[in-house]
Amino acid sequence: MDTTTGSHPSTPVDGPAHRSAGASIDRFTRRSPRPGHPYRREDHHTTALTHALVAAGRGYAVIPLTRAKLPAVASPHHADQATAPCRGACGQLGHGIHDATADPLAVRRLFAAAPWATAYGIACGVPPYHLIGIDLDTKHGADGLTALRLLAEEHHVALPPTVTVRTPSGGHHLYFSGPPSPPVPNSAGRLAPGIDIRGTGGYLVGPGSHTSRGAYTLTPGTPRTPTPAPPALLHLLTHLPHTTHPHNTRPRPTPHTPSTPAPALLRFVRTAPNGQRNARLFWAACRAHESGLGQEMSTALTTAALHTGLSEREARATIASAGRQ
Ligand SMILES: [Zn+2]
Repeated sequence: MDTTTGSHPSTPVDGPAHRSAGASIDRFTRRSPRPGHPYRREDHHTTALTHALVAAGRGYAVIPLTRAKLPAVASPHHADQATAPCRGACGQLGHGIHDATADPLAVRRLFAAAPWATAYGIACGVPPYHLIGIDLDTKHGADGLTALRLLAEEHHVALPPTVTVRTPSGGHHLYFSGPPSPPVPNSAGRLAPGIDIRGTGGYLVGPGSHTSRGAYTLTPGTPRTPTPAPPALLHLLTHLPHTTHPHNTRPRPTPHTPSTPAPALLRFVRTAPNGQRNARLFWAACRAHESGLGQEMSTALTTAALHTGLSEREARATIASAGRQ
């Protein structure tokens, strides 16, 4: 069949939900047999909601996402409240990852508020799993999978099989459960090039999502729930090195040094050729938001964009629009 998630043999959807999702997919593929493009946005929305409900049923807190992988429900607040951002105390929807919930009715309400959502995010660092996501990228010359293997060898970490999701670009997300504390920080490219870590405040694009780059699918034979992270891996993730070189992973000088913004993302922006400056900045800002680093990286991203010749006003507008997606 095609490459869509709904038809994947190990899709997490089972029971009655599977039958209804399968039926709607079959109906649509009969109407539109174009290979690789059997879906419309409404179908992606339904598929994402169905899978989000399955994930919620397993205890994961979820939010709807746009095709750009950003929180889909618009903020009810204006952008002028940088000092004390509301995290949902106002009772309205639209607080990004703070909206995440495992309550099926609340999940439906979130998706109803964002009919354009075609994907969903799984919140990391929250009960019951205190999920830690390891995002292994294969884009832009990085090879996250090999980098992780090297790191694991070097630090004598045996990586057990766990929930694994394949991304549209051929990368992988590994899901591990963690302890309630210490919190695992988010980072992009800090452990090694091609490895992003999603911890407290971050989220993973869940299997059954469809983004502008394609579908996220569960890897066949994957366990149903995340495997506990081995202690040596946890140690590595809570003592992230400053360097981005996989063979030079000395511990940080002090455990609580302020984190370094992702060098790979900044380099990507700084080296943008004319004609790609805004697009690269937007992409990098989206990645930063996805990793829960949107606020932390906004100044560094602006500086990197100025280096390419963009005006500060342009740069800030692009970064802000990434945050609003
Ligand atoms: Zn609010």
